[in-house]
Amino acid sequence: MSEEQKLIYLDNAATTKTYPEVVEAMLPYFSEYYGNPSSVYEFSGISKKAVAQARETIASSIGAKPQEIYFTAGGSEADNWALKATAEALKEKGCHIITSKIEHHAILHTCEYLEKQGFEVTYLNVDENGMVKLEELKQAIRPDTILISIMFANNEIGTIEPIKEIGQIAREHGILFHTDAVQAYGHVPIQVDEYQIDMMSASGHKINGPKGIGFLYIRTGVKIRSFVHGGAQERKRRAGTENVPGIVGFGKAAQLAMENMEERSQKEQTLRDYLMEKVLAAVPYTRVNGHRTSRLPNNCNFAFQFIEGESLLIMLDMAKICASSGSACTSGSLDPSHVLLAIGLPHEIAHGSLRITLSQENTKEEMDYVAGEIKRIVERLRSMSPLYEDFMKNSQEKN
Ligand SMILES: *Cc1c(COP(=O)(O)O)cnc(C)c1O
Repeated sequence: MSEEQKLIYLDNAATTKTYPEVVEAMLPYFSEYYGNPSSVYEFSGISKKAVAQARETIASSIGAKPQEIYFTAGGSEADNWALKATAEALKEKGCHIITSKIEHHAILHTCEYLEKQGFEVTYLNVDENGMVKLEELKQAIRPDTILISIMFANNEIGTIEPIKEIGQIAREHGILFHTDAVQAYGHVPIQVDEYQIDMMSASGHKINGPKGIGFLYIRTGVKIRSFVHGGAQERKRRAGTENVPGIVGFGKAAQLAMENMEERSQKEQTLRDYLMEKVLAAVPYTRVNGHRTSRLPNNCNFAFQFIEGESLLIMLDMAKICASSGSACTSGSLDPSHVLLAIGLPHEIAHGSLRITLSQENTKEEMDYVAGEIKRIVERLRSMSPLYEDFMKNSQEKN
């Protein structure tokens, strides 16, 4: 590695760069137009107008009405709100919730919390590509099912779920349908009416907007409790003085994401496929996790046999490459990712996973360098692996 090797950021599912245009749009709302949108004088009207404009941009990006967009402090809050507040509002009707085994922890841990409160949760299996099985969903529906929450696209393996079909099934049974679209919003086209989505979570920092801002779309007429009690902001459903700069930045990021979605997807997908083919050709005993086609354009998830994803990440970091593994080792647990286990990978293979998520700013030269580094590092790690040694010895004996 040369001294001046530039950082290569390939972890856009974790967070994205805040675009300079977004920062620029936000800046006046810190020290210049700092008025509280709820105040009556003209000065605060500037903030109020900016929030309204962002709400309109975001609403129109998913075919919703502005009054159906509720700003939150991010995707996790939107997920918590959607689940906890519908559960509470509908507990007279029933106590059963359906979700999947591959949801983000903002959904899974909220479901575990709700189970402690007396709700029952069915965690649907997925197939080997990470797809929810519609037949299993239909069979899981009970008279007391109040909510179905299935993510739009998975954050680890990039699989895009059959959201339209799930929306249809939920609607036919009169059950509310929430989708965690944090990974999908701004990356693939979403229309809430076409997909029959009743509630949807999204987050600013996954689409080149600022961190700490998100929204929950709530279809008009959906019964849901307020999440934060206090002032009358967000139509009395989510109190607290609005994060005006954050909302403005999110609006700008959404506008930019919508404007060049197709071009950006094409670019990311071309680069992603280039990298994938290069790595698969260079590194034996490697598989790609997730669906081949129903997949986020910038996501690629490898499993390398005989190595530890964590060691690979550390060595990639030394080569100035930021990526992520499917495993939760970083959070103090040695369990492999729940997503990789749910698609049926054995523990030892799930441990050797690597998630790479591109942005439109990545280049072919970077992909060449990254593929070369992956090959070098995996070979090095395998050369130190007793498992690999045994495997090679056995396969030689067989031949
Ligand atoms: C990042 C992410 C979240 C959490 O969003 P925050 O804004 O970071 O709270 C929720 N769900 C999915 C699928 C995500 O990728």
